[in-house]
Amino acid sequence: MSDFSIDADWSELYVDGEWTPAESGETIDVEDPSTREVVAEVPSASGADVNAAYEAAAEAQTEWAEAPPAQRAAVVQQFLEALQAHSDEVVDLLAHEVGGSAIMGETSIQIASDHAGEAATLPRRMKGEHAESNIPGKENIVERGPKGVVTVISPWNFPLNLSARAVLPAIAAGNSVVLKPSTNSPITGGLLFAKLFEETDLPGGVLNVVTGRGSEIGDRVASHPESDVVSFTGSTSVGQHVAGLAGENLAVPAMELGGNNAFVVTEDADLDRAVDAATFGSFVHQGQVCISINRHVVHEDVYDEYVEKLTERAEELAVGSAHEGGTVVGPIIDESQRDEMLEYVEETVEAGATLETGGETADIDGVDDSLVVEPTVLSDVTNDMAAACNEHFGPIAPVIPFSDVDEAVEIANDTEYGLSGAVHSGDLSVAREIADRMETGNVHINDQPINDEAHVPFSGIGASGVGEYNSDAFLREITETKWISVQHEPREYPF
Ligand code: NAD
Repeated sequence: MSDFSIDADWSELYVDGEWTPAESGETIDVEDPSTREVVAEVPSASGADVNAAYEAAAEAQTEWAEAPPAQRAAVVQQFLEALQAHSDEVVDLLAHEVGGSAIMGETSIQIASDHAGEAATLPRRMKGEHAESNIPGKENIVERGPKGVVTVISPWNFPLNLSARAVLPAIAAGNSVVLKPSTNSPITGGLLFAKLFEETDLPGGVLNVVTGRGSEIGDRVASHPESDVVSFTGSTSVGQHVAGLAGENLAVPAMELGGNNAFVVTEDADLDRAVDAATFGSFVHQGQVCISINRHVVHEDVYDEYVEKLTERAEELAVGSAHEGGTVVGPIIDESQRDEMLEYVEETVEAGATLETGGETADIDGVDDSLVVEPTVLSDVTNDMAAACNEHFGPIAPVIPFSDVDEAVEIANDTEYGLSGAVHSGDLSVAREIADRMETGNVHINDQPINDEAHVPFSGIGASGVGEYNSDAFLREITETKWISVQHEPREYPF
């Protein structure tokens, strides 16, 4: 049996380069959302385990920070090679743990690999400055070094690449890491990283992985005094709480939070191309993407045709278990998420919207209480209806009409979030005007909002977060500068 299969041993924490059971001896079951069967057990860490992880991280960091850039780059490169070598097993793990289809699994590998490739360039690109001085005879040197210990708290929806985008640059820059994955993705968001790094020359203690319930160890992780940066990806409500704890401790909060992304289609857009993008942007990984389309905002002249085409496409999608090869729409992560999104659909219909298709769970052979939700299209939606004003995080496409550009922009911006968005238009200058006026960190013209390229800054504004991920933007958050000046000749003081 492979060490990377779901049947392998995942029951121990990774602290100081060693596998160790949780102090309490307790474990948490991992349920496969497609089959609803328990497929693995992971340790339930306590505060003492968390403390041990930070102690190891702080201890290991000093020496790791002194490792030459080529050595740190080589370790991240080795991680990339290990990920590639185990990619089929990792895709399978994602299917078992979070109900990811083959498309989701392969996309996760591709994005995580992109982050690894970019992170491997950081050690050689991390540079200080030499600045002129206003004071005669003074030389200014600005050194750039790692912050110290970086805490990474990641969500379950795309666990592999969302942990990778923080863990890999942090390690590349000479920090050590304590990684706390979501309770729904302890393996692919956490323990897997330890196994992959074991195939590299990373010294023990630089990466530590603690799995456990956010409600039990989350506060300890977010507020640990050894932590210098808290890199959190997750919901806005938990993020606000975590940022508060990090702030009390004067650790830098790097927060990537929820979204409510608009997909705007003008009257002269290529409708087939727009619907193609919309189908992917709404339904990939069952809509459980922070940057997926939450709301379709469509010009009234093409509204009916758009709804008809989108409904047709939604009905054609292969729905079912993540373990079936052709599945596009697999299971929702758990019952509470599924029930919440179905409630949003029900409330939206009660408020006057039309259910074009979907709105129910789909039966899966041999599974009691299936977590698969049918791809759902809702028309006659207004922005205040439940499926539109909440981050539904499901395979749900509420379609809202608009009559002119000002109204489209107003609808798109009528949310506390500001993460991603997209515009389809036949006129690039109109598309650009709408994109410029959309209050979001990312907007994509003639595409859909799900994009992440490791060398391009990625950020949310408003309730979608503080700080930036990727490349130089994230490098600034996980490093600090130190100004050293040298007074080469005697300085004249006023007294
Ligand atoms: P969540 O906020 O419930 O959990 C995120 C992480 O926080 C998990 O690891 C969880 O265990 C942990 N946590 C829970 N309580 C904690 C506490 N008290 N202290 C510290 N950590 C605690 O989010 P989720 O359900 O895992 O993920 C879905 C959410 O994440 C959605 O809102 C989605 O939009 C957002 N998200 C944002 C981005 C982005 O880049 N902006 C990317 C992916 C997901």
